[in-house]
Amino acid sequence: MFNFDFYNPTRVLFGQGRIKDIDRRIPADARVMVLYGGGSIKTNGTLSEVLTALGTRHVIEFGGIEPNPSYETLIQAVSLAKQHNINFLLAVGGGSVIDGSKFVAAASCYQGEATEILQSRGSKIKQALPLGVVLTLSATGSEMNSAAVITQKAIKTKSAFFSERVFPAFAVLDPTKTYTLSKHQIANGVVDAFVHITEQYLTYSVNGLVQDRFAEGLLQTLLEIGETALAEPENYDLRSNLMWVATMALNGLIGAGVPQDWSTHGIGHELTALYDIDHARTLAIVLPAMLMERKEQKHAKLLQYAQRVWNIHEGDDTERVIQAVEKTRLFFERLGVPTRLSAYGVTDIQPILSQLANHQLTALGEHRDINLAVSERVLLNCL
Ligand code: NAP
Ligand code: FE
Repeated sequence: MFNFDFYNPTRVLFGQGRIKDIDRRIPADARVMVLYGGGSIKTNGTLSEVLTALGTRHVIEFGGIEPNPSYETLIQAVSLAKQHNINFLLAVGGGSVIDGSKFVAAASCYQGEATEILQSRGSKIKQALPLGVVLTLSATGSEMNSAAVITQKAIKTKSAFFSERVFPAFAVLDPTKTYTLSKHQIANGVVDAFVHITEQYLTYSVNGLVQDRFAEGLLQTLLEIGETALAEPENYDLRSNLMWVATMALNGLIGAGVPQDWSTHGIGHELTALYDIDHARTLAIVLPAMLMERKEQKHAKLLQYAQRVWNIHEGDDTERVIQAVEKTRLFFERLGVPTRLSAYGVTDIQPILSQLANHQLTALGEHRDINLAVSERVLLNCL
């Protein structure tokens, strides 16, 4: 196992009815900005529950954070936060609202041009406003991690930044708040969490036995509950497990001390930036093609995946690996998530390769050896 630091300061407030407990976690004299998306929290009652819990605190709202949150929108929240001397942010939503709020938290304290936060991938962040989260969509793990992915519309770029300063202080995980999600969004969440796990698990062995077992347990849970979580929106047990799996998939635990890949996410972000395909849907396209392309480099782990996650015991080693990748693809398809670029009318991979080159995404994967030629083969298999 590699050496590692494991640090995660986010307090999780899990379960039905927990929104009221934010009252104990936010200073009574805080000046709070509540950030949210396109309005789902208004129609389903979550916003009024949050406002009730905030009581008599000074509160201003910033709505309209779009899926794949943009710098252009968020910078308006930064001005508003400065203007009102805001000293606590509360993100109420999914990954986009949480990521966007992390940017607002950092940019509100940043001395200099806020785009430097993105260019430096977060390394220039010295300070950030404290942030709390009320999660409404199980998918990204952003509620308990220090990452954010921000789009700059002006230059068609989607890039991640990381900073310990933007870990949420707390995250309310109330599974009932996900009951109003569409099947489309639940499916996206299952796929995103699944791929977060494979990015940290399907690499090469460093004898991280504990991490492997965690990852396999989380993957098996997603296989066990994914389809029924779609079919039964108000099944509390299913939605609870889905919420906790997605959080655990990317809170640093399973990735501690093991190699990490992230090539599927790297290429996926470019597909979103270019064609506006949902984040998870880009991953469902890229992952199966990536695993097939890397089946030699990842052979031992893929074989372990075939045996332990999919219970495949027939055929020679190569056949088992191929079967496991195919079963993964079919799982995404059963969730209603297409696994081909053609489903989105994309037939030419040249623009994608140009984006990868322009953004210097030319050394991806756990061995940093996925160059443009390898990405080209992967993308051809995504068509
Ligand atoms: P999202 O973009 O936050 O939300 C998608 C849609 O779901 C929105 O239209 C939203 O509507 C709706 N929605 C959310 N909660 C709802 C509810 N309870 N009921 C009904 N509708 C609801 O989706 P996401 O998948 O969570 O986030 C994706 C973003 O996270 C991408 O930008 C991706 O790159 C990023 N990401 C971040 C990390 C990380 O570690 N930080 C990891 C992976 C991905 P409203 O806007 O109306 O609320
Ligand atoms: Fe993701």
